[in-house]
Amino acid sequence: MQLDVVSLFPEWFDWFSTQRHVRNALARGHEVRTFNPRDWTPLSGGQVDDTPFGGGAGMVLRVDVMDQALRGIYGQDPVDLRTQRRVIALTPGGRMLDDAFVDELAAEPAITLLCGRYEGFDERIVQHFASDAVSVGRYVLSGGELAAMVVMDTVLRKQPGALGHAESSLEESFSRALGGDPEYPHYTRPAEYRGWKVPPVLLSGHHEEIAGWRRMRSHERGVVGPTARPPDPEITERRRPGGPD
Ligand code: SAM
Repeated sequence: MQLDVVSLFPEWFDWFSTQRHVRNALARGHEVRTFNPRDWTPLSGGQVDDTPFGGGAGMVLRVDVMDQALRGIYGQDPVDLRTQRRVIALTPGGRMLDDAFVDELAAEPAITLLCGRYEGFDERIVQHFASDAVSVGRYVLSGGELAAMVVMDTVLRKQPGALGHAESSLEESFSRALGGDPEYPHYTRPAEYRGWKVPPVLLSGHHEEIAGWRRMRSHERGVVGPTARPPDPEITERRRPGGPD
């Protein structure tokens, strides 16, 4: 898979590419490339953005700059490019990333991630150059770089060999193997700590019972919610300003 990132801050990805699972993926022939649209801007002084029509705060990434950048990188009209590879505009209001969507993206041979900054993209970039608009959550980040890393991380760790153990990305939260539910809880040594005991079934050595227990806990978390824990009234009281302590 070829993962390309178009960002005004390509150096952010230097650290990302040194992470173990990313290095593993790169060693297996996957590719991460970064491009700065400023390198192709037709405007003077490296300008890439402009004030919004209609007024308002902030600056908007220009459609002509993105057009030139994508043409420079791929040697073709970006309107056609999106029919040949996934071109994702990262935007808070886009399609929410979830495990099923990650599976879909992980099967692609090539993806381009467009990172916005400031007020975001001129809408014509999303409409005419992108195949998808993707959000990593209903909140606003300062730029698309962290969102791009979320997409890249989730997609790359699904590639065979990226993780240490081949099976570790199969039975994870929200996977098909767990029926879309969050993962069951894990425990390790010591078996008892400060009076907190590991569920005995996990120490029993009965693989079927363990698998059944895990399915139950996973399903419970899917029904109740990811933490499967109601708020503890004692903790809430302690945190209250002027509360005990
Ligand atoms: N004015 C925009 C709005 O209210 O929707 C927010 C722009 S944000 C400060 C700048 C850039 O960060 C966006 O263009 C997008 O690329 C990226 N971004 C911020 N939050 C994001 C999210 N939740 N998912 C994906 N990208 C996000």
